[in-house]
Amino acid sequence: MILTCDIHCHSGYSGGVGKISFEKLYENLQIKGINLYGSADALQPDWRKTLKESLVESEEGLFVLKNIEEKKYKFIPRVILESEIVLTAPYFFDKKRRKSVHLLMTFPAFYVVEKIVKIFEKFGAKLSIGRPYLKFDDLNQMEDFLMNLSERFHDIEFIPAHIFTPDGVLGGENPIDCIEQFFGQFGKKINALESGLSADPDMILKIKSLNNFLVISNSDAHSEALNRIGREFFAIEIDNLSYFDIIDSIRKKRLVYSVEFKPEHGRYFLTGHRADRHDNNQSIYFKVEDIPENLICPICHKRMIEGVEYRVQKLFLKDKDLINKKADLNLFRKQKFFYSIPLIEVVAISLNSSIKSKKVNDIYRLIIDEVGFESNLYMMDEKKIIDIINNLKIEDKVKSSLAAIRKNLFKFEPAGFDGNYGQLKILN
Ligand SMILES: [Zn+2]
Ligand SMILES: [Zn+2]
Repeated sequence: MILTCDIHCHSGYSGGVGKISFEKLYENLQIKGINLYGSADALQPDWRKTLKESLVESEEGLFVLKNIEEKKYKFIPRVILESEIVLTAPYFFDKKRRKSVHLLMTFPAFYVVEKIVKIFEKFGAKLSIGRPYLKFDDLNQMEDFLMNLSERFHDIEFIPAHIFTPDGVLGGENPIDCIEQFFGQFGKKINALESGLSADPDMILKIKSLNNFLVISNSDAHSEALNRIGREFFAIEIDNLSYFDIIDSIRKKRLVYSVEFKPEHGRYFLTGHRADRHDNNQSIYFKVEDIPENLICPICHKRMIEGVEYRVQKLFLKDKDLINKKADLNLFRKQKFFYSIPLIEVVAISLNSSIKSKKVNDIYRLIIDEVGFESNLYMMDEKKIIDIINNLKIEDKVKSSLAAIRKNLFKFEPAGFDGNYGQLKILN
């Protein structure tokens, strides 16, 4: 069976939004066609209490919402326990600087989460925040700590999150050039990497040292909004529905496809500085070929935030052999994926309205009624989907925007940089 998964999400305890409504979440997962969703922030005590009160185990290590009216749903989404954590250790070239990295952890049961909580508390981590922060004296101490955890808890999966963003292992300031450089021996315990919104599997897998990892994609959503949940996800093949089967499938790279943001849409694609960093309120951004020397910002003269495009190019060019033998790129393992732009945003832009407007939401529902799941818009055969679009009883300008998106007639101007999303321009 094929399972669509979005297993890295956040609750209000990680900042951003207030209380998440499980009912709304379930409704939106139906629209998005997401079978498995991340619990978010399972290590945070208040959120864990909410999870325990709201969920009931359905299969080994998987949960469903309590007391639901089953017939209301096309399918019943499962929940997997997970949390993102932050690891920080002095940067190995310069002990005065630290490198912070986000790491996703999945858990097979609440009692395992509680054991991890005790270990983290003993280590001195503050668990009242959604994303606990583990501060190490050096990389060796961190490596020992993580090795110990992974050896004691074989069923926990550790997945470096959004690897090329500033908080990703291979991105940002004080960058690391390969997984082992930061994680040491623990790198061998890592099976999958999360692409993040600003990178796609092609960008990641063309880097030699990363070619053997499975690349997965998650929304990293901080709310149950339609343009957030399931905006990226991955589909895996499993034999039985259970936590252990899912982890086994990730470890064996049984990926069917992933659905990805266009990297230019993500918040860290270009290199630059956003407006609020500057007295004149001007933003500045560069494509990889135009970046000034040493990444110095022409406005504030500080180092700019390195974009994912730049980091990927830099790591790719490190591999001199490859540049001389371009054909070898074909030897690299590839993964199947589709690009997607949240449909509610496409409708809102074409009507020059907000994603919260009733009209936008009504049209959105009409489209979903015809296409089934939102991702079908991008995954179905082009002719078939264009026919469906043409027969929709919606305004022509929305139809032509949908067709333009599907025919690749759009761009992000500017593309994302320094925390700003790329600005979608539909070319119709
Ligand atoms: Zn993160
Ligand atoms: Zn600047």
